[in-house]
Amino acid sequence: MPTLQTIRDFNPEGKKILLRVDFNVPQDEQGNITDDNRIVKALPTIKYLLEKGARLIIMSHLGRPDGQVNEKMRLDPAAKRLGELLGKPVKKLNETIGENVQKETEALANGEMLMLENTRFYPGEEANDAEFIKQLAELGEVFVNDGFGVSHRAHATSTGLASVLPAYAGFLIEAEMNALQPLMGEPKQPFTIIFGGAKIKDKIGMIDQFISKAQNILIGGGLANTFIAALGHEVGQSLCEKDKLDLAKEILAKATSPSQIVLPADVIIAREISNTAATEVVAIDAVPADAKILDAGPQTVEAFNAIIAQSATILWNGPLGLTEFTPFQHGTRNVAQAVADAKKANNAFSVLGGGDTAEVLKTLGFHDEDFGHISTGGGASLEFLSGKKLPGIEVLYR
Ligand code: ADP
Ligand code: MG
Repeated sequence: MPTLQTIRDFNPEGKKILLRVDFNVPQDEQGNITDDNRIVKALPTIKYLLEKGARLIIMSHLGRPDGQVNEKMRLDPAAKRLGELLGKPVKKLNETIGENVQKETEALANGEMLMLENTRFYPGEEANDAEFIKQLAELGEVFVNDGFGVSHRAHATSTGLASVLPAYAGFLIEAEMNALQPLMGEPKQPFTIIFGGAKIKDKIGMIDQFISKAQNILIGGGLANTFIAALGHEVGQSLCEKDKLDLAKEILAKATSPSQIVLPADVIIAREISNTAATEVVAIDAVPADAKILDAGPQTVEAFNAIIAQSATILWNGPLGLTEFTPFQHGTRNVAQAVADAKKANNAFSVLGGGDTAEVLKTLGFHDEDFGHISTGGGASLEFLSGKKLPGIEVLYR
């Protein structure tokens, strides 16, 4: 059977290595990095390769510059932060390909590194263009991919380089696969999935994938409103996908037991969305027509948490309320605590997928250690957990 080829499978010493990372980090208006998690997660691979004497050439994209130079999307802030994390400055070039880049990469000594400019300044990156790939490939001898967050895209720096150079996975991609792959096989039961977030559309692939496999499917967040409406209840002014009511009914009909899918029994409502909003707890069949459902109620949280406490495997995607505002964070915080407790008390294996989920739980004060695995790839983990192949990772199996 083909196995994931990793950086342990070759000797990096003296080799010019083109390393793809995902340094697509959020920045504020002034260009300050507001969350460096993605850079931190690439450190094990970068440190390992440098220690082994590689001549390291780091590539990443940032934002959506659409194939043109965009001054606001240069990678200088990322290079600076990487330098701070490594404790030595990181040289960054203003181009990704070309004569100057060739010269600079040629001059790298063993154990030295430099960073190229945003790969998406070139249209060839997203077009997976043969000429762009060729010019990149000329810079190095080996391709290492550790950009899990872009592995669902067939771009020049994911699948393209792997088609012309020997290609290996970095430690981050390896860790993501080690955590996500078992969920696609036969995860230890009881297996519980928590779905929240905004839209059914984003989660339907995952729901379909796991409905035959998970013992419990707990549904909260904006997503639950569509199910609640499908059951014929008033949802007032809540976020609700009126055109997805039939889809919600179909999902409910697919349940493998009457207790498999757990919807909110009560909810927190408000009439305005703000940090000072007055809230009320109401039963699910008592939402007033002028109110919005914005969080899970205490009974719901209790029911969810009782199930979580009995679970051996937990997959969570999507916050359970409008967590951008403090009055609507209770459900997500309390359920996160139950997931963290399940790890501590029973060694339950928990995986968090989805960009917002991971970010919200950090904001609420939870840490990496509270969970089994926090995926770094929002779209990539969603696609993988929906049963799709990730092109950037497929090419690393041999
Ligand atoms: P992820 O990125 O983890 O997959 P999503 O993007 O699907 O998560 O969902 C996150 C969004 O869902 C957040 O912006 C959150 O405010 C929103 N949300 C959750 N519950 C509600 C609700 N009851 N009403 C409106 N929005 C909600
Ligand atoms: Mg999201």
